[in-house]
Amino acid sequence: MRKRPGNWAAAAASLWAASTPALGAEHLVHDQAEYRQVMKNVRAGDVIRLADGVWQDFPVLFEGRGTASDPITLTAQTKGKVILSGGSSLKIAGTYMVVSGLVFRNGHAPGDEVISFRRDARTIASHSRLTEVVIDHFNKPSRRQEDRWVSLYGTDNRVDHSWFAGKGNAGVTLAVVRPKGQPQANRHRIDSNYFGPRPPLGSNGGETLRIGTSDESLSDSATIVENNYFDRCDGEVEIISVKSGGNIIRGNTLFQSQGSVVLRHGNGNLVERNIFLGGGKLHTGGVRIINADQTVRHNYMEGLAGTDFTSAIAVMNGVPGSSINRYHPVSGALITHNSLFDIARITLGAGADAERSAPPKDSRFTSNLVSGAGEQDIIQIDADVRGIRFVDNVASGGVPVALATGIAHRPIALSRAKTGLLVPTDPLLARLGAPADLQPVGKDQTGPTWYPKDAPKVGFDSGHRLDVAPGVLGAAIAKAQPGDTLQLSAGRYDVAAPIVVTIPLTIAGPKEAMLSFAGTTLFQLGEGGSLRIKGLSIRGDAAPGQPGNAVIRSALVPTIANYAVELSGTAFTGMDKAPDFDIMATTAGTFADHISIENVVISGLSGTVVAAAAETGGKGYYPAERISIAGSQFADVGRIADVLRGGTDESTFGPAFVLRNNGIIDGGPSALTLSGVQSTLIADNRFVRAGAIDIAHSVGAPETRIVHNRMAATPQPRITQLYPQAMPRVEMADNIATGVAQ
Ligand code: CA
Repeated sequence: MRKRPGNWAAAAASLWAASTPALGAEHLVHDQAEYRQVMKNVRAGDVIRLADGVWQDFPVLFEGRGTASDPITLTAQTKGKVILSGGSSLKIAGTYMVVSGLVFRNGHAPGDEVISFRRDARTIASHSRLTEVVIDHFNKPSRRQEDRWVSLYGTDNRVDHSWFAGKGNAGVTLAVVRPKGQPQANRHRIDSNYFGPRPPLGSNGGETLRIGTSDESLSDSATIVENNYFDRCDGEVEIISVKSGGNIIRGNTLFQSQGSVVLRHGNGNLVERNIFLGGGKLHTGGVRIINADQTVRHNYMEGLAGTDFTSAIAVMNGVPGSSINRYHPVSGALITHNSLFDIARITLGAGADAERSAPPKDSRFTSNLVSGAGEQDIIQIDADVRGIRFVDNVASGGVPVALATGIAHRPIALSRAKTGLLVPTDPLLARLGAPADLQPVGKDQTGPTWYPKDAPKVGFDSGHRLDVAPGVLGAAIAKAQPGDTLQLSAGRYDVAAPIVVTIPLTIAGPKEAMLSFAGTTLFQLGEGGSLRIKGLSIRGDAAPGQPGNAVIRSALVPTIANYAVELSGTAFTGMDKAPDFDIMATTAGTFADHISIENVVISGLSGTVVAAAAETGGKGYYPAERISIAGSQFADVGRIADVLRGGTDESTFGPAFVLRNNGIIDGGPSALTLSGVQSTLIADNRFVRAGAIDIAHSVGAPETRIVHNRMAATPQPRITQLYPQAMPRVEMADNIATGVAQ
């Protein structure tokens, strides 16, 4: 605590306040100097209001000694009308400090935290509260620059009714930090917040919530996370990463969020009364269980499509004598009274391999109701599961014989209750599964009432159509608004310099609209840019005679927003003179939601159709979540795709690659190079005198299907394992090979 005149008076005032509510002073401040002046003499019960408007580059230090009955409050003149932008941040320190009504937007924190519950390592906050505060896309300029939006230090703090969405750079959205060597029961409450969309980061560090780190994970944090709404939190495999003990995750709604609640480190955590709604979206998961004495009860899960580690329930295998940061074996887990409807999978002994060889023990799986999304077995057993007792469960769909005594197999008729949740119609089943009084927390019950939760979505073709004739393409692009479509008329369009795209933009035309470019790049994406091309002709013979030309190139500097590129119905010619001429070239530090190529014709290309191997290093960065090439014809094309995800990181789902229904004739010695791709489908293609197909499986759960292809004078696909994989998931079927490879 800083020494300052009036300390004694403040202490006396707060003692007095304990019996009689004091009337604190009200201060309306208009600039940073005035704020600092007021804070010099702040007393318990004081309220400081920031005047409405934009506060630029404001590193707020809010420190003082409030009391339980007379906290010190920092708020807005009008909630939601005070915008902290530019290089702004907030540090809260002391006791009983309350911050409300502020919006962080249009900027990013200068340091590595936007809001932190401490001034420095020795001056922390306790009994303090952050309520009705908004952090909206307040991102560092590069996705690789890491920061946290909220760091909870100290004890007994609360974050509630706040709004966090659009984090695009690396780093946890909200973390409970438990400094090394100083573990303590934190008793924080994180409740009634709106965690809005967080797009896939494409690497580790995209968690929405984390409680602790492995170092101090054997002590209890006793943090409560309840009644929050997680809306499409897709950052990485962990939505909530629990790395400490004694926490409660209760009554939250997880809506179409890829990933799981992961009990990664620490013992004795309770996950109860949460509602998981997957809507069949890929990689939507439930709870992943590791360590000792975890209880997962009274949860409701519906439409979760996740499998393996991201199954509705995943009980992992552990490492015998595990180090603190690996996987402690599961013991004493109780999984009871959960309703798991329309789910893809429960996995027991997940991750079993030579290292993770310790199966779960002393655990129980009781009184659960399970119905599967498909015909396949709902329950996958990857290890010895005799250490889990199965009692009084009912499942529709396939149940492994080994579990048949504890899981009755029979159809479960369901109807939708007033709460919106499914319940069994058979009264005899009512005693199983989640409790009947369970009710999801709605989006509207979370976050501040005064900030909208549904941002308008700007996608391709959502704007206006602008007719464009030769000669005015540059002017039309300069004028285009997000979502607009430029409709080109027939004719030749000579493009001298790269066209920079920083909005979602569609360029469409008849085949007779011919674009010829003289620069190294035709379309250069920048921050916020996405491109859809439909029905054009593009020729590259005017481009420089040097290596490295590309029709489309992602941004030249690391960006925040995930982009999309869609090419369809377009013909590409004249790209075989200069070497290494690519159609789509990705760059490091950028990330595509998807790159899709459909119904195109490419004749003569010296480089690669999708060159997506620009990321280097061992951190597992990769270029795009989904890459798909379908219904197209490639003749004399150097390579169809080169996709790389390096390293050994297991925190992401992608990339996924699809090559379907294409004709690939002649071309370079290497037709396809995929390394570290997680899901590969090569189907219904015709290869004639094509080059090698090389697929390398890396860590995670990679799977490759090569089916129904015709391969004439083309080498047999080669699939290798970069790391030992217990059982490589490879399907090669119904391929017809003829002739001898060149
Ligand atoms: Ca992670």
